[in-house]
Amino acid sequence: MLSIWEKQTFFAPTDVLIAGSGFVGLWSAYFLKKANPSLRITIIDKGVVPTGASTRNAGFACFGSVTELLSDVETMGRDSMLELVEKRFRGLQTIFETFKASDIHYEQCGGYELITAREHDRYPDLFEKIAWLNDAVSPITRKKHTYRFVDQPKAFGFENIHSIISNELEGGLHSGWLCRMLLLKVQEMGVVVLSALAIEAFNHIGDHLEIATDQGIVLKTNYLLICTNAFAAKLHASVNISPARGQVLLTSPIEGGVPKGAFHCDEGFYYFRNLGDRILLGGARNKAFNEEATAELAVTDRIQSELELFLRQVVLPGRSYTITDRWSGIMGMSDEKKPVIRELEQHVYCAIGLGGMGVALAPTVALEVADLLTQR
Ligand SMILES: Cc1cc2nc3c(=O)[nH]c(=O)nc-3n(C[C@H](O)[C@H](O)[C@H](O)COP(=O)(O)OP(=O)(O)OC[C@H]3O[C@@H](n4cnc5c(N)ncnc54)[C@H](O)[C@@H]3O)c2cc1C
Repeated sequence: MLSIWEKQTFFAPTDVLIAGSGFVGLWSAYFLKKANPSLRITIIDKGVVPTGASTRNAGFACFGSVTELLSDVETMGRDSMLELVEKRFRGLQTIFETFKASDIHYEQCGGYELITAREHDRYPDLFEKIAWLNDAVSPITRKKHTYRFVDQPKAFGFENIHSIISNELEGGLHSGWLCRMLLLKVQEMGVVVLSALAIEAFNHIGDHLEIATDQGIVLKTNYLLICTNAFAAKLHASVNISPARGQVLLTSPIEGGVPKGAFHCDEGFYYFRNLGDRILLGGARNKAFNEEATAELAVTDRIQSELELFLRQVVLPGRSYTITDRWSGIMGMSDEKKPVIRELEQHVYCAIGLGGMGVALAPTVALEVADLLTQR
């Protein structure tokens, strides 16, 4: 049984209840409060800390590597690809305007794409394709040459690589700190954030909603915003988001240092970056799509050995290191690779399906759903 004090503070009725305190939930609370400081907002998350993708990713502050964007043109068309690039680019600007680089450990170390012989064969006209892409994205990035071939790719010390494309507008940040800074910011704005409390169901009662939680606590709200990304399908029959697990490993510090930057390979299916003198490497989901279509937070021998193979053959050939950390996170994939931002039913909204580049996308998605809610 709750005390009157608890009922009137932590569990008080709210205007907006947000389910999920990943980047989208937190940014949504931020924009809603900014637009209307008197709104009563509570965020709940099933984890002790946010436990989906936002605190378990690679921290790339990126908006798209060349082969991934070219592949997107084939699957979704030029306009949709550019729309996504614009949203990610705008999201990155929002992050930099909201937080000091030092608070989120942001470094504009540059983004790089490693082109293997296989990709080189697949895109024999890559030079022309990059020129086309540069023209297409220049109204967004305000740069004539966003992407360019690196003059001396061998200097990075990678092996089994044909060439490298650089994008100096990209970098890396510390996802844990970005999450913490966002949490602090929304709490300062008066948002109540509750952890280890999962929404199980919701019911319309008169003109408000009752939210049933896994702790038996029932919360009252006028509006519900679902930001549970990969886990959203459980809450509404019309939601079509599939879970996709991403696995990561981290090496020990490596004597002699490692290349600095945020690197992609194989249409973004492999990604690695330096963390000081260590390498954080993730991906290889394309080696076992079906097994990785899961919301189970686990690491598997199959994917981890693919990652270790890539480390040995491409990233750190002949170097000595050990693997100190391994973890996984869960992405939410929509059918069209675009986030789903909509009213699901009266007074219930969602902002989900952020896919694999949600660090950049989250602020833009959150602003869109906050606008949708405030214009209701
Ligand atoms: C391994 C990995 C690497 C990645 N690397 C990058 C990268 O380098 N750069 C990049 O831009 N993107 C990256 N991404 C993608 C990015 O992290 C996500 O797109 C983004 O974090 C999604 O944010 P979100 O708030 O939508 O979802 P999430 O962060 O998943 O948040 C959803 C939250 O909902 C909570 N929740 C679930 N069910 C319930 C419930 N019933 N009740 C209450 N709460 C609930 C979860 O605990 C979770 O905290 C990566 C993802 C993974 C998995």
